[in-house]
Amino acid sequence: MGDSNEPILKVKDLGVVFNDIKLGLIALESITFDVKESEFVSIIGPSGCGKSTLFKLLADLIDSDGINAGISGNIEVLGHSPEYARKNRKLGVVFQKPTLLEWRDIRSNVALPLEIMRVNRSEIKQRVDELLAMVGLESYGSFRPSQLSGGMQQRISIARALAYDPDILLMDEPFSALDEIKRREMNDSLLRIWKQTGKTILFVTHSIQEAVYLSERIIVLSERPGKVKDILEIPMKYPRDKYLDSDQYFDLQNKVRHALSK
Ligand code: ADP
Ligand code: MG
Repeated sequence: MGDSNEPILKVKDLGVVFNDIKLGLIALESITFDVKESEFVSIIGPSGCGKSTLFKLLADLIDSDGINAGISGNIEVLGHSPEYARKNRKLGVVFQKPTLLEWRDIRSNVALPLEIMRVNRSEIKQRVDELLAMVGLESYGSFRPSQLSGGMQQRISIARALAYDPDILLMDEPFSALDEIKRREMNDSLLRIWKQTGKTILFVTHSIQEAVYLSERIIVLSERPGKVKDILEIPMKYPRDKYLDSDQYFDLQNKVRHALSK
């Protein structure tokens, strides 16, 4: 894909002011950052600081006609607007809640984006097989979403988000409803998928430990109005499980904690 020195995602001077519930509620202020191709970047910040607002703007999920908000600044995804990126399937999104369709089995949940694209049936079958294998749930294709655990449902959401092979995977606190052991397992699966696919991942979290475990860089946001307080590099090799008790890991977590509370 093109010139790999050029960032795949650019956010410049982004500001959001909501006017509907409370007039002039500033959600985000002068947000500027870049994400390079194949990078794993997290956005961390306290709850209510505007992380989901930022996520929705990147994913083009805020209908600017539908809400009363002032949006300033600029977002470029692969050199285009978020709307163009969404329509051309450059972005896959995963939310905190799995949002699977209960009346469809697991296979047809993963197949849905491909059906919408009118991919032919044999290709869909092959692609769904690959995706279910990638998330380690190949034997659950005929189950209903509610028959799977929360963690498994999130794996299916990831598979569905990757169905049309987007360049960027955007995730908004995807594992925050899971217990710590499950979360760690999901973190490891996600890193494996990242390595395997080479996707660019932008991951929203409010967990310091999760951000340090996963990311190459962490964008630290302040309390509302969310501003970029710091952008920290995490210079640690993967897999990181063997460093969990190391001084370096401890120091990096402290650095993030410090940046958050500055
Ligand atoms: P986070 O995801 O970091 O917890 P959000 O992006 O969900 O934060 O929200 C940031 C702030 O913007 C909060 O104060 C929230 O109440 C407010 N907000 C979010 N969406 C809207 C909206 N549509 N109208 C008015 N205020 C909103
Ligand atoms: Mg949120």
